[in-house]
Amino acid sequence: MTTAQPSLAAPGAAGGSQDVQPTPLALLLLGREADPRSERGVECPGDLPSPSDPDLVERARAAKEKLGDKVFVLGHHYQRDEVIQFADVTGDSFKLARDAAARPEAEYIVFCGVHFMAESADILTGDDQKVVLPDLAAGCSMADMATAEQVAECWDVLTEAGVAERTVPVSYMNSSADIKAFTGKHGGTICTSSNAKRALDWAFEQGEKVLFLPDQHLGRNTAVRDMGMSLDDCVVYNPHRPNGGLTAEQLRGAKMILWRGHCSVHGRFSLDSVNDVRERIRGVNVLVHPECKHEVVAAADYVGSTEYIIKALEAAPAGSKWAIGTELNLVRRLANRFAPEGKEIVFLDKTVCFCSTMNRIDLPHLVWALESLAEGNLVNRIQVDAETESFAKLALERMLALP
Ligand code: SF4
Repeated sequence: MTTAQPSLAAPGAAGGSQDVQPTPLALLLLGREADPRSERGVECPGDLPSPSDPDLVERARAAKEKLGDKVFVLGHHYQRDEVIQFADVTGDSFKLARDAAARPEAEYIVFCGVHFMAESADILTGDDQKVVLPDLAAGCSMADMATAEQVAECWDVLTEAGVAERTVPVSYMNSSADIKAFTGKHGGTICTSSNAKRALDWAFEQGEKVLFLPDQHLGRNTAVRDMGMSLDDCVVYNPHRPNGGLTAEQLRGAKMILWRGHCSVHGRFSLDSVNDVRERIRGVNVLVHPECKHEVVAAADYVGSTEYIIKALEAAPAGSKWAIGTELNLVRRLANRFAPEGKEIVFLDKTVCFCSTMNRIDLPHLVWALESLAEGNLVNRIQVDAETESFAKLALERMLALP
């Protein structure tokens, strides 16, 4: 479990007499507290600068300069340009958490990403480093699809069916600290979209089945596309149905028990998007993220993580054409970066597809967080409790030790 600690002393924080101590529920309703059981936090506390303030860029620069080496700003690949310009490093969630751990002199880690990423950074950084999420409402809908209670209930169902002891949990990095801790406690490992196959290979050496959390698509795509399993080897556990909607027999017959979760951004791409772009752009290469649905991945030319996508485009020859199935901020940045090299890069879908929660971290939130820190106010700290951290770390260490 995580605690998020918004500053109640933030300037301009409205709401009554100083003598009255608001209850956690009241704070939640007022929009000044995170829901510790959910990725879905609430509005940012404090006195945010207006988005139309013409001095925002200058204010961010000044606050960052004042903080100097005390602050390290991490920018996820899917983040807006206005925020990315202030990032000391960019990358995917795991790379960023490791980058933060490699900067022990930075007292404040400002994570321009989503809640589970800030948790991972807190787990991997030193005790005296404080991780700040500029907007507590920046959560991940996928991570929210697997709560600790639901996963504990699932394990009971597996135990009842007599398969739990032969099942190894493998959890995607995009999960809450609670789920990572569950994974560590039950002998499992974490994976990223880059090492999912290695994680599954390892898991099948430890047991006969895998419970894959929380992204069914990454689990299915890795099992079927990379490991030669069939779709029939996979079943989907739906936490909203009794016994996950599965019989004990189905659980006993499955190799992969996929949690019914998905990314709301990558889950939007369809087979029609692929067929349509192939009709519109002759000779286009379709490159998609493995969080996309199985039929999209099966129809694509290339599949890989965000880091893979970036490297593939770096290596692409001039004159090549690419349709990319991942978050729009990243695709736009890549299109602009590689246009001078004569590489044509388009977004796979016709409709816009931002990660709306990640996009909550905008320049006003970043300015507010940096200025607060520069004034000595620690705001929006994300802190994972010690027990959760130790089991989550165990699962992360198993991932780091993967062959
Ligand atoms: S892109 Fe998908 S998985 Fe990534 S943070 Fe957004 S909702 Fe979560």
